[in-house]
Amino acid sequence: MISQPHFIARVRVEHARGERDRSCHFFPLPTGGTTPPVLRAYCGFTIQPGQAESLDAPTGMPCLGCLMAAALSS
Ligand SMILES: [Zn+2]
Repeated sequence: MISQPHFIARVRVEHARGERDRSCHFFPLPTGGTTPPVLRAYCGFTIQPGQAESLDAPTGMPCLGCLMAAALSS
């Protein structure tokens, strides 16, 4: 579905402000070996790396915006 390397993450529960924050977002894997100050998901959702909880697999509710963007970009 997604040809580009990516990872799945969501906002840590203590930083979540709502249901959208608890969705699993798909992020393009940062290139260059450095972590950017802000990660931007395919849907445009942004998260600070320190507030992100990376997941091995989608857990709970996946972000529909990310799923659509990923499907369209492949
Ligand atoms: Zn998303």
